Amino acid sequence: MLVAGDAAALVDHWSREGISYALRSGALAGQAAAHLVTAADETEADCAAGHYARQVEEVLGVEMRASGALMGVFSRNPSLVHCALTRLPPAWRRLDAYIAGRTSVAGIMTAPLVRGVTALATRLPGPR
Ligand SMILES: Cc1cc2nc3c(=O)[nH]c(=O)nc-3n(C[C@H](O)[C@H](O)[C@H](O)COP(=O)(O)OP(=O)(O)OC[C@H]3O[C@@H](n4cnc5c(N)ncnc54)[C@H](O)[C@@H]3O)c2cc1C
Repeated sequence: MLVAGDAAALVDHWSREGISYALRSGALAGQAAAHLVTAADETEADCAAGHYARQVEEVLGVEMRASGALMGVFSRNPSLVHCALTRLPPAWRRLDAYIAGRTSVAGIMTAPLVRGVTALATRLPGPR
């Protein structure tokens, strides 16, 4: 059985957006299903299913992990994230680009400064 979208728990942890995840995983599942029905034997069918799982990981896993990391920081220190977004122009510009659809959370997380701050913030104690 191939699962996609909400059924496969494919959702952005930060924005809770799931439509694009459902569409993208659905397209990949459709391609895998086409290979499955023409598979000559069980080994070939397993190969098609495995390929689907790897594609989902490659295409969506990176985004989900980046969103999960950001959500983790926000959950532990909401005031820190709020402060960064309102007081630091680079942070605000990145949020603006994200809202306008010019980048993704994974794109934002590629910046070394953001990665460093996120890694540091995950080590800070949460509010009491
Ligand atoms: C209130 C709310 C607001 C949201 N807002 C956003 C948003 O702004 N942006 C965004 O990206 N995401 C949003 N989401 C998430 C988004 O709706 C889902 O991630 C997305 O619709 C998942 O698509 P899907 O195809 O996996 O599942 P679904 O859209 O749930 O589709 C599954 C379909 O399968 C049908 N079904 C279920 N069981 C069976 C069965 N046994 N036989 C036949 N059919 C069956 C269901 O009736 C349904 O039509 C929101 C979700 C909620 C609940």
